[in-house]
Amino acid sequence: MLNISGLDEGIVLDHIQAGMSTKIFKHLGLEKLDCQVAMIRNVKSNKMGKKDIIKIEGGLDQVDLDVLGYLDHNITINIIRGGVIVEKKALKLPSRLTNVLVCKNPRCVTTVERNLKQVFTLANPETQTYRCIYCEETVGKKL
Ligand SMILES: [Zn+2]
Repeated sequence: MLNISGLDEGIVLDHIQAGMSTKIFKHLGLEKLDCQVAMIRNVKSNKMGKKDIIKIEGGLDQVDLDVLGYLDHNITINIIRGGVIVEKKALKLPSRLTNVLVCKNPRCVTTVERNLKQVFTLANPETQTYRCIYCEETVGKKL
């Protein structure tokens, strides 16, 4: 059972690959949030051996959880309200990523026009490859 003690309202990210919580923390911009965030590392897990957990107090409408699907779609999102888990969300690879990946093609329009959004669409779920919508350059999953 996932221990959510002390959390009345918030988000618990469970089944994070051990050692990845720092990266997830940065990618979600959690350092910019006002709310209490707890990272718990190397928790024993039957399924994974070891895992990391992130608990976010509040922040239900401040955290962009879509990017998590790209970072690690094995993460489970638990939404807590009134001290109980009211919703569990499974993640999948997002079909579209905005301002997560950067196009490396020197001739791409995004290299010239810096204020354009970096938009990629999922090209191949097997290899987790994404394609730039402007120049068709593909990028593999990199963190
Ligand atoms: Zn491009």
